[in-house]
Amino acid sequence: MRPTRAVVERFVAGETTADALRVAGELVGAGRLVSLDHLGEDVTEPAAAALAVEAYTELLAGLTDAGLAGQVEVSVKLSALGQAIDEDLAAGHAERICAAAAAAGSMVTLDAENHATTDSTLRVLRSLRERWPWVGAVLQAYLRRTEDDCRALAGPGSRVRLCKGAYAEPPSVAFTTVGQVRDSYVRCADVLLAGRCLPMFATHDPVLVDAVTDRIAATGRGRDEVEFQMLYGVRPDEQHRLVGAGHTVRVYVPYGRQWYGYLMRRLAERPANAAFFLRALTGRTHTMRRRSVF
Ligand SMILES: Cc1cc2nc3c(=O)[nH]c(=O)nc-3n(C[C@H](O)[C@H](O)[C@H](O)COP(=O)(O)OP(=O)(O)OC[C@H]3O[C@@H](n4cnc5c(N)ncnc54)[C@H](O)[C@@H]3O)c2cc1C
Repeated sequence: MRPTRAVVERFVAGETTADALRVAGELVGAGRLVSLDHLGEDVTEPAAAALAVEAYTELLAGLTDAGLAGQVEVSVKLSALGQAIDEDLAAGHAERICAAAAAAGSMVTLDAENHATTDSTLRVLRSLRERWPWVGAVLQAYLRRTEDDCRALAGPGSRVRLCKGAYAEPPSVAFTTVGQVRDSYVRCADVLLAGRCLPMFATHDPVLVDAVTDRIAATGRGRDEVEFQMLYGVRPDEQHRLVGAGHTVRVYVPYGRQWYGYLMRRLAERPANAAFFLRALTGRTHTMRRRSVF
């Protein structure tokens, strides 16, 4: 529907590889780095997992042709590659994507999903890094285990994205209050900044952006030695400000046909956006799920 298209396009690059490449090119032109995510998760059919690999290999070839491979990496969810069917199946698919990224001159980051997959995802990460040390990890500050995981992953050459975490997790494994999660995020940031990894701070939270900015200044790290990361369409003014202040900013850009759930989650985070979207929808009804917010 035409009225809703503008809202969708604010958060999602589009449905096709060409859309993803166009938006990535625009962001790179505006001085940002990009991580492209082919939308889809929780695959239960091997054929669907194979299709996700094809989508990424086509995308990575497109990045080379467009001259964007140096500035644009890809983010991959192992659940989209069949992790729930068999870890080895997903690991084999991830290897094909890493090989395509290496051939393209790009890189890969493995997204973090619900806590039941964390051990499996970190196992696959470790095995991928034996061949491709640049494969990025994602750690979720709301998990009680994450400070230890930060210590384990803070070594030289390691790329680590730190986010709050987006899944509904029980208190037995996760901090649950805003304050606890922020405190954990700052503790984890300190561990990463004290290490020799490339920390990638993924947050839109002004409290955390300020806290991390102060800490980066205190460590004397240069702009190539740390990244801020934000989602496409979220706080673009802040992204612009950070670039202007000399920081490296990478924008996470989702694309693909399975955009509906992702969009609903972004709108659920910001009631102002949801009201805008619902006005534009005029008549359609939606169920907002909060299974995964990411
Ligand atoms: C690049 C990136 C990658 C991610 N990867 C993962 C992943 O692999 N796994 C995972 O579980 N999660 C991931 N996430 C999601 C993350 O875990 C959080 O769920 C999500 O980012 C919301 O937390 P937040 O820190 O941004 O702040 P929030 O808690 O959402 O917001 C805190 C404050 O930020 C400000 N704010 C937020 N949004 C806006 C807005 N639109 N406009 C103005 N102000 C705003 C408001 O002041 C708000 O109160 C990722 C997030 C990013 C940015």
